[in-house]
Amino acid sequence: MKSKISNQFFISYTIVFVMSIITAFLAVQLMSFADSVMAKTLVKNNYTADNIMRDDYTKIDPDPIVENNGGVQVINQNLEVIYSDGLNILGSRKLTTEEFTDFLIYSKSVGVPYSIDIQYNTTEKFWLIVTFPTSIRIDLAFVYNNVVASKDMQGVIGLIVAVALFYFIMLTICAAVYSKLTAIRFTDPLKKLVVGTQGLRNGDYNTRVHLNLKNEFADLQDTFNAMAEQIGHEISIRQQSDENRKKLILDISHDLKNPLAAISGYSELCITKLSPANNELNNYLHIIHENSIRANKLLTNLFELSKLESAEFSLNVKREDICEYVREFISNYLSVLDDAGFTYTFDIPEQEIFSMIDRGQMNRVFANIMDNALKYNGAGTEISVRVWLEGSHVVVIFADNGVGIPADMAKEIFLPFVRVDISRNSQTGGTGLGLSIVRMIVQKHGGDILLKTQQNRGCEFEIRFPTI
Ligand code: ADP
Repeated sequence: MKSKISNQFFISYTIVFVMSIITAFLAVQLMSFADSVMAKTLVKNNYTADNIMRDDYTKIDPDPIVENNGGVQVINQNLEVIYSDGLNILGSRKLTTEEFTDFLIYSKSVGVPYSIDIQYNTTEKFWLIVTFPTSIRIDLAFVYNNVVASKDMQGVIGLIVAVALFYFIMLTICAAVYSKLTAIRFTDPLKKLVVGTQGLRNGDYNTRVHLNLKNEFADLQDTFNAMAEQIGHEISIRQQSDENRKKLILDISHDLKNPLAAISGYSELCITKLSPANNELNNYLHIIHENSIRANKLLTNLFELSKLESAEFSLNVKREDICEYVREFISNYLSVLDDAGFTYTFDIPEQEIFSMIDRGQMNRVFANIMDNALKYNGAGTEISVRVWLEGSHVVVIFADNGVGIPADMAKEIFLPFVRVDISRNSQTGGTGLGLSIVRMIVQKHGGDILLKTQQNRGCEFEIRFPTI
């Protein structure tokens, strides 16, 4: 962001610099135009030495010149000032050749506050000098000789180009430095605001921004800080109510367990004690018993999930060789798979891959996935279990080629109470909580689980967690 703003400033300042150069050039052009217009009205141009020249210098009329604050001097061949009226910058004396030469040079010099016009009368051999004080004059001109070639021309042009180039480089550096300096005034507070926003995004609601400025950024800072405080406040309220809700579910599911177990147990007892002749009552008792079992299952899952979510929960991890652990787990399932008419393939490497896992909880994960595969798919389904090491993670795959789950449900299936086809699942007695518990346990191990699936193409659960 910083470079973009300073680039923007750099472009703007370069444009401003170029425009000021063009404006300055135009101003000089305009001045010289004005000068040429003005020249016609200036007294020095109306009363030149040439205009008033007479062979007899006593007949020269100095009055209009003197009236306009000017002066007239006549110098003879002996360099004596033989006539003077009005403004006199020579003095009334005899000049030496050196003084006269200096005067001639002075009269043509740039920056002289007089307009000095000198005319030599070739007949009577004298110099006529007309002097006016300069009003305001700007001496700025490129002078060159286009008739006779100068030997220095190339060198001088090179020097002018070098100076111009240096000037442009200096301007560019100034534009760059100035744009950087100006940009810092914007980028610094913006940077602090970005850091603050990132803090908020990362869940640090105590983030506050302090810019120590008194401009519009200060307003933005106050608004940001007020917003962060508001969000922090609301988040803490939400967290509190979330905690309360979880605790409520945990308490309810815990407290309901015993009464439900009693209902289930006594209904079962009644069924065994009741005479088989009493069909209707038997029927009712069966319904009570089955529903109490389902409710119990739901409650147990709910209790389990709430326990996992509660702040007090912690895993009981041990260093385990995952390959060995998966092999052991599968061996316990082989007879169940055979009885259900499932086929299976396993690809578990001989190498040791160690991870910190809570065996009890990990059993729950693998068992839930295996039980689901058995529950929702018919005989002939093939199950494959694969394990491999991928960087610093171990990957465990449980795949089946059964009925599958619609691909668009692959993510939400891990949310509580999500099931594919409720009517189909009502026979299986599912609660829709199993995979939520599974994901929670995997995440508690620092890992993650994802499902690749397609309807009628089977399910592939990919579990990955860190190795040590
Ligand atoms: P439950 O099995 O108790 O309903 P789960 O969270 O374990 O809850 O599973 C959610 C749903 O995902 C199941 O109801 C079922 O529809 C679907 N499901 C899970 N595993 C499979 C599978 N291997 N094949 C087909 N459907 C599955």
